[in-house]
Amino acid sequence: MKITVDRDRCVGAGMCAMTAGEVFEQHEDDGLVVLLMTEPSEQWADEVEEAQHLCPSRAITVDPAAR
Ligand code: SF4
Repeated sequence: MKITVDRDRCVGAGMCAMTAGEVFEQHEDDGLVVLLMTEPSEQWADEVEEAQHLCPSRAITVDPAAR
């Protein structure tokens, strides 16, 4: 699983950090998403998928096949 985030699309809603705080956080200055892990282990797959669906600006892309 490989994750990318588009900070130009991010609106700082924070759903990702609330849903998968091990993988995403919000920058303390601008509130925009910060990716803590680009290739998290499968143990975070459910949380990452939920965060992707909850993100209101579709700023999170997950490639489940990437290794
Ligand atoms: S949920 Fe989406 S819009 Fe909100 S902080 Fe995360 S990436 Fe940005």
